Amino acid sequence: HHAPEHHATAFAVTRNPAPASDAERARRMDSQPFGTVFSDHLAKATWTADRGWHDRRIEPFGDLVLHPGATVLHYGQQVFEGLKAYRWADGSIHLFRPEANAARFNASAVRMALPPLPEEDFLGSIEELLGVDAAWVPDVEETSLYLRPMLIGTEPCLGVRPSATVGYVLLASPVGAYFPNGVKPVSIWVAQGFHRAGAGGTGQAKTAGNYAASMLPQQQAQDHGCDQVLFLDASRDMYVEELGGMNVFAVRRDGTIWTPRVTGTILEGVTRDSVIELLRGDGRDVIERDISIDELRDGIASGAVQEVFACGTAAVVTPIARLVAPSYDLVVGDGGPGTVTMALRQRLTDIQYGHAEDTHGWMRRV
Ligand code: PMP
Repeated sequence: HHAPEHHATAFAVTRNPAPASDAERARRMDSQPFGTVFSDHLAKATWTADRGWHDRRIEPFGDLVLHPGATVLHYGQQVFEGLKAYRWADGSIHLFRPEANAARFNASAVRMALPPLPEEDFLGSIEELLGVDAAWVPDVEETSLYLRPMLIGTEPCLGVRPSATVGYVLLASPVGAYFPNGVKPVSIWVAQGFHRAGAGGTGQAKTAGNYAASMLPQQQAQDHGCDQVLFLDASRDMYVEELGGMNVFAVRRDGTIWTPRVTGTILEGVTRDSVIELLRGDGRDVIERDISIDELRDGIASGAVQEVFACGTAAVVTPIARLVAPSYDLVVGDGGPGTVTMALRQRLTDIQYGHAEDTHGWMRRV
């Protein structure tokens, strides 16, 4: 007896008896704030120490039943991912480098003492969910269906130890264009007295606690009139790491492009990696190095740094126009979106939406 080769059979589907009507779906998909609308179904699987991963299913979307003692609620034993499904002009649906998200999901899981999920389950759950919720992938340019896989410790246990039972849950949320009125450069506030991650900590893992810790500094950024917070390294409070949810790059007048090297405290973005590959493919000199905040500030002030941009799944490639701290407020370049930044953004979205040939083999048709 052979197990079916095709992973798409691994999830037992229970259809939602009352899915949103076309009109209701259209209404809910129309310009809602990010992450507030959900599709009709969920994918789930269960892990137990004795049986491993089992009970793979697609269910009608609904609340989770969680014991109040579940480890995720007390000790944050959780990891997650974020990726998007894109609709092409011919109606087909494609994922961008989902294998990279599967690998990072498992690297995060190992750090949080959670059981890795086989790649075929990660990809299979997405394909199966899209099988029943395909109508939730919007067809307007720059929109997508955001996919949020997560692992949570479900064992009721107040002892501080890894959960003996773990849940995998995949939810899907249609998202509109990040910049509905055209790309608008963002301003960043240099975190004062707060750090996102320290050596040996969980900065490289995509785990809930990192984001919980980023909210107060993010609020302070907003209090100072900025859109995003820029974190510096914890040991010297000197080197640029990343934003709360995006990696950063600086385009220099000498033609080189700098980005912080990965040190274990930075989340290694799939977009970061793709941007580096695109730029290097163009013959650009991308340098992964330590970048001190003084160097960045002086470079912006002198014009040696011509463009700064952030990148990540949500906003793709976003120009940064201002760098703000208590003692300075600097405008990058002329304050408008830079040419290198905007060309990269176009390159990447052209690949993601099927307008350009996928020469890197990044797209996976569902
Ligand atoms: N850094 C952090 C802290 C993030 O949360 C994200 C979003 N996953 C990124 C960087 C960008 O990663 P990606 O390009 O894979 O979305």
